Amino acid sequence: MTQPKAASDAFIKAMPKVELHVHLEGSIRPATLLELARRNKEPLPADTIEGLEQWYTFTDFPHFAEIYQTLSRCIKTADDIELIAHDFLQGQADQNVLHSEVTYTAHTIWKNTQIPFEKQLAALNKARAWGEKELGVSMGLIIDIPRDWADDKDAVMIGDWVVDHHGNGVIALGLAGYEVGFPPEDFAVPFDRAAKNNVPAVVHAGETMGPDSIWGAMDRLQSVRIGHGVRCVEDPKLVETLRDRQIPLEVCPTSNVCLGVVDRLEDHPLPKLVDQGLYVTINTDDPPMFGTTLNDELIRVSGAFGFGEEELQHFMSQAARASLLPKADRKALENRIAA
Ligand SMILES: [Zn+2]
Repeated sequence: MTQPKAASDAFIKAMPKVELHVHLEGSIRPATLLELARRNKEPLPADTIEGLEQWYTFTDFPHFAEIYQTLSRCIKTADDIELIAHDFLQGQADQNVLHSEVTYTAHTIWKNTQIPFEKQLAALNKARAWGEKELGVSMGLIIDIPRDWADDKDAVMIGDWVVDHHGNGVIALGLAGYEVGFPPEDFAVPFDRAAKNNVPAVVHAGETMGPDSIWGAMDRLQSVRIGHGVRCVEDPKLVETLRDRQIPLEVCPTSNVCLGVVDRLEDHPLPKLVDQGLYVTINTDDPPMFGTTLNDELIRVSGAFGFGEEELQHFMSQAARASLLPKADRKALENRIAA
């Protein structure tokens, strides 16, 4: 038997890509954060790029949450929102990521600044139009309910934002944050309303909680993809169901290592998921915080598990096919990826 051959870094970098699981605020690079903090006179634990890179380095979940809160506090105006989206799109274009489906927590920004959702969305759409025109890359917005931060009333309000603006850059209602103590079933009201209005659900599940969370996301909230989902391997019946229904999993390998879902990349269930015929995509989650990029993720999994060029291209075709673009745009994207 021949040994599987890893793809070269040059091949991976040049390959056209699609990313389905990445957080906009979690993508703010240290240089951009520094600029935002200066603009808004917001204190940071470091005042150089090197210092911020050091501070970004993942230690544990409380530190991760603190970073997230600090950088959200540095966003004060619609211009700031446009800047982070602008910077994100440039970073994706630099990696040849043609299309991204980005989770954005409008609720946190609204709580901190009272900028109405409509104004936040207008800023994001300005950057989106710029990205399409100047860089040739697109993005769709998944507006999430932060499960551990939004109360019931706010969860309904976020659901209403999404239903009212679906199609205007907004592609889905998301559910993110720390799963423990916040099962999908608790959010049935906004997700039922979204479903009634043909708005897709994209739920984080099976990362910090096990199979029950994935069952809830799939069966109660009708999640069209599962954010992470890697802990499905703990339940054979669930693996079978995910395979039969071909529900896409948004796998984020380095994030899983950082958050302790697995100890080392080599222990990641990724090859097992692929072998069992599950629908797998590869993503970054919060790239600068986990010291990664989409290119790095592909280089790492190729190195660790021997995925070759064809397999990596297959991950990207799967991502294109699982995107929530209108049908004609999705087909066009699939063709660009295949070419
Ligand atoms: Zn995530």
